[in-house]
Amino acid sequence: MVEKGEVACASSGKAGGFLALDWNDSTAVGPLARLSYSLHKDLAQSLGADTGYREVRTFSVAASAKPSRRKAARNDGLGWLDGNIGQVREMAEEGTTAQVHPEKLTRAFLNSALNRGATLVRGAVQGIALSADGKRVEGVRVDGKTLPAKSVVIAMGPWSGDATRWIPGLPRIGGQKAHSILVRPSRPVGADCLFAQVVTSSGERKEPEVYPRPDGTVYVCGESDDSAVPDDPLSISPRADAMTALREAGGLISSALAEGTLEAQQACFLPTSPDGLPVLGRVPGIEGAYIASGHSCWGILNAPATGKAMAELIVDGAAKCVSLAAFDPARFKAHRVVH
Ligand SMILES: Cc1cc2nc3c(=O)[nH]c(=O)nc-3n(C[C@H](O)[C@H](O)[C@H](O)COP(=O)(O)OP(=O)(O)OC[C@H]3O[C@@H](n4cnc5c(N)ncnc54)[C@H](O)[C@@H]3O)c2cc1C
Repeated sequence: MVEKGEVACASSGKAGGFLALDWNDSTAVGPLARLSYSLHKDLAQSLGADTGYREVRTFSVAASAKPSRRKAARNDGLGWLDGNIGQVREMAEEGTTAQVHPEKLTRAFLNSALNRGATLVRGAVQGIALSADGKRVEGVRVDGKTLPAKSVVIAMGPWSGDATRWIPGLPRIGGQKAHSILVRPSRPVGADCLFAQVVTSSGERKEPEVYPRPDGTVYVCGESDDSAVPDDPLSISPRADAMTALREAGGLISSALAEGTLEAQQACFLPTSPDGLPVLGRVPGIEGAYIASGHSCWGILNAPATGKAMAELIVDGAAKCVSLAAFDPARFKAHRVVH
């Protein structure tokens, strides 16, 4: 593994970590998500590390800065939602939503791999070393040196698009910036995940996602924009107005968030593909080259099945646990290799 910044420095460390069994069923991602959902449950036991996994209830919640005449009846366990709360609706059947702590999960994956013989190299991948005929991978170029490798998986999140400089014709994976804060609430809150619709004091409509975590903090995210992905993953900084907006939105849902302590203010980029689907599989025309990227807003959920299927593809020659056909990089235009 080659890492340019820090392990989990980007969205895999700063995501919400919300998991859903069947919310992708209407797209080609459905089977990948279903397998991943069950693998997350297994991994919570088998990784032997605290990954913050727990099953959760999930609600849609409306809140407003304006006092409502009638306070809506609240479901059990939602008493901490003491703002001007409107409609509250349960969004998922029992046992079909869960959460993990993305940074803890990413580090647990890394440690598990290191224990099985993997090596972590700190450095920036600058290209792929190919055989003289340009048809086979021989390694990756890292900070001016070639690291030998029979197989190379391009899995650089929103930076995966950089690989088009090495393999023109690869799909342009890009990034969409989104913001999040971590609040230590002023008193204990419930464990339910919330998809909120909030009308702020200035009348703006916001849709923050609010995930209380087992460590007692509450993660609040939203406020996406179209900023360019910076070259250095460690240089991503949040917009001040986005931080204020998330703080206000959370505070309108619960005074425990309004009065809580801010523990983190951060931003990261969702990896986006041209057609919205992940790009998983062999890079056409180059033996030993693979890509696994473009998971958009479901990359934490879909990580386990992606890893398992990619491992099967590389080691056994075909993915068996789930079909990767819908994610084949070859669905984009023909690839051309430059030497
Ligand atoms: C605000 C927010 C909330 C989210 N919430 C959820 C959620 O609740 N549930 C869910 O399932 N998903 C969620 N996601 C999506 C999820 O975080 C991503 O899909 C996933 O983390 C992407 O993982 P990745 O490994 O592809 O990319 P990243 O996590 O971005 O990792 C890419 C890595 O590549 C490294 N890198 C880049 N260039 C190079 C190079 N040249 N050489 C070496 N290394 C390089 C970077 O330093 C980085 O560590 C969320 C995303 C955001 C932004």
